[in-house]
Amino acid sequence: MALIVQKYGGTSVGTVERIQNVARRVKLRRDAGDDVVVVVSAMSGETNRLIGLAHEISEHPDLREMDVLVTTGEQVTIALLSMALHAIGCDARSYTGAQVRILTDSAHGKARINDIDALRVRADLKAGRVVVVAGFQGVDEDGNITTLGRGGSDTTAVAMAAALKADECQIFTDVDGVYTTDPRVEPRARKLDRITFEEMLEMASLGSKVLQIRSVEFAGKYNVPLRVLSSFDEGGEGTLITFEEEGVEAAKISGIAFNRDEAKLTIRGVPDQPGVAYKILGPIGEANIEVDMIVQNIANDDTTDFTFTVNRGEYDKAMKILQETAEELGAREVIGDDKIVKISLVGVGMRSHAGIASRMFETLSKEGINIQMISTSEIKISVVVDEKYLELGVRALHDAFDLGEAEE
Ligand code: ASP
Ligand code: MG
Repeated sequence: MALIVQKYGGTSVGTVERIQNVARRVKLRRDAGDDVVVVVSAMSGETNRLIGLAHEISEHPDLREMDVLVTTGEQVTIALLSMALHAIGCDARSYTGAQVRILTDSAHGKARINDIDALRVRADLKAGRVVVVAGFQGVDEDGNITTLGRGGSDTTAVAMAAALKADECQIFTDVDGVYTTDPRVEPRARKLDRITFEEMLEMASLGSKVLQIRSVEFAGKYNVPLRVLSSFDEGGEGTLITFEEEGVEAAKISGIAFNRDEAKLTIRGVPDQPGVAYKILGPIGEANIEVDMIVQNIANDDTTDFTFTVNRGEYDKAMKILQETAEELGAREVIGDDKIVKISLVGVGMRSHAGIASRMFETLSKEGINIQMISTSEIKISVVVDEKYLELGVRALHDAFDLGEAEE
C-alpha cells in the first residue's frame, strides 16, 4: 500500500464532468488500496476571472484582500470534488490551506511555505478517507490567508507529499509528460520517460512551462519523486522526475529548451578599466532588471565591448539606463536588438561527453544560422540567434542529437 499525492490542474477540473472524471480516477487508486491525497487548482479561467473583478474596482487592490478573493477558486473545486467522490461511494473530506495548516510567511501573492501540520490529514487517511486539499493557498502566523504565486498548486502538492513522506507526487495536467522539446515547434518531439531534477529546472526556466519551477526545486530538496501525467489519457506512465542514477549511462542530451522572450543590449568602446562591469550592470540591477547572459570582449585599443541579455519586456527600460551609463563612461555607442531568441541544449550526460558544443555549433552553421552569443553551464549550452531561426535551429538540433529516436 502506497501513499500518493495527486494534483489536478485547472483544465483537469474545468467542468463538472471533468471533476467527476477526476473523482473516478481517484477512486480507482483508492480501491487499489492506496492512500490518496488530492490537491486541486481552481476551475480553468477562474483565477483570472477573479483577478479581473478586483481590477474593475481598483488598479492596485490590497494584496491581503486579493488573496482572500483568489483562494475562493480552489475552495469551490475541493468541495465539488469531495461531493463527486461521495456520489460514487468514496469517503472524502475537503480542506482549505488554512484548515490543513499550511503555514506560510506573510508575503501575500508569493508566500513561501514554512511548515505543514498535517495531523488532521493523517487522521483522515487512517480512517480510510480521501483527503482533498486546496492548492495555491496557505495561512500566515496571524491567520491571514496567503497564496503561493501563480501556478502554486504544484508547490502545494509537492509540499504535501514531502510533509506526508508520500511515495510519489503525481501532477496531472493537459500534456502527457515532459518532451524533448515543444511539439508545436518540432512535431517529432518525444516524451521522456525520465528526466533529472537538474535538467527539469533548466527546461522549466528556459520556457518549457510544464511545472511551476518552485515545485521542482522543492521536490529536489526534499527528495519527493515527482511524476507528470495526462489527466485525459489513462494508463500512460508520464515522465518521472528523478535523481541521477549511478551506473546507468545518461543520455547525452535530454532536450532542447528555448525562450522567445529575449533581448540583447551592447555598449561599445568602453574604457577598459577595473569596475567597468559593475558600472554597467549596477544601475540595471538597481532597476530590478534581471540579466541573463553576459559577454565581454576586449578590443586592441584599450576599450571593451559589453553585451548582455534581458527579458524582452524590460528592453526599453534597460536601453534608457544603458544610454545614461554610456554618457557617464564616455562609451562610443549603445546598440540593441529585441528580435532574438535563446536556444539551449540540456543534458546531464554533457558532463562526461566532450564535443557536444562543437556539434551544436556545426549543426547551426550548416543551416546558415549565425550565433550571436554563447553561454554554458555544466549541463547546458545556450546560444542567442535571430528569432527568425528559432524553428529551424530547434529542429536541426533535435535531429543532430537524435532526440526523435527512441532511447535504447
Ligand atoms: N489557480 C491558481 C492559478 O491559476 C493556482 C494554480 O492553478 O496552480 O495560478
Ligand atoms: Mg498549472
